[in-house]
Amino acid sequence: MRFDLVTLFPEIFTGYLGQGLLKRAIDRGLVDVRLHNLRDWATDKHRSVDDRPFGGGPGMVIRVDVAVACVEAVRRLDPEPGRLVMLTPQGRRLRQAVVEELAVERRMILLCGRYEGFDERIRQVLQPDEVSLGDFVLNGGEVAAMAVIDAAIRLVPGVLGDEESNQTDSFSGAERLLEFAQYTRPREFRGLEVPPILLGGDHQAIARWREQNRTLRTRQRRADLLENQIPKERENHEPRIAEAGREEQLEG
Ligand code: SAM
Repeated sequence: MRFDLVTLFPEIFTGYLGQGLLKRAIDRGLVDVRLHNLRDWATDKHRSVDDRPFGGGPGMVIRVDVAVACVEAVRRLDPEPGRLVMLTPQGRRLRQAVVEELAVERRMILLCGRYEGFDERIRQVLQPDEVSLGDFVLNGGEVAAMAVIDAAIRLVPGVLGDEESNQTDSFSGAERLLEFAQYTRPREFRGLEVPPILLGGDHQAIARWREQNRTLRTRQRRADLLENQIPKERENHEPRIAEAGREEQLEG
């Protein structure tokens, strides 16, 4: 999968690209990330990429002529035009379902904004897929672009090793519930013990516990995810125990 990042601050990505799963995926040729400095497409002697907003108001707006020239040139760098994603708080919110949709692309061009954002005509001309990290305002699109890349590469075949599976991750699979609680050594810490069922080696019992645990955790933390989703069979098989203190009872 190829990512072309269009940004005014390419150096922000240096550390990120050199670490962890992403670096491993790049080294193995599964992921390719190219950086493009929007400023390289500026045409005036000051290399300006932004200007004051018409109508007045604070801040600076990214210029349409510079952004369109840059994106069109970046597009031409590969025969696969790819999907253009504009990072903006006004886009559709990034969720696992959106990540899954993006991760099937062979190429993604990620357009990072700065300052007061983009001249509206950039949207009109380039017709990007507008994606938001959430209902808050960042200083720039770079962090949002990293989030898109980070989430998407987990779904690229071969990127995760056997030991790191996305199958049971939160928001994944048909039901999109939260993941069950995880434990590792030590078995006891400050009086907190690992649920004994996870230590017994009974794989069917462990699978049942995890299934119940993820449903319960989702109900407690993100009940909105359960709406219209719980198959009747699972509801019927859940132990009939009082809502209060359910987590403790399931952890045995
Ligand atoms: N004035 C803009 C508005 O209110 O919609 C916000 C501009 S923001 C300070 C600068 C840039 O940061 C945006 O162009 C966008 O690329 C990025 N950005 C900010 N918040 C974001 C979010 N929630 N998701 C994705 N990108 C975001």
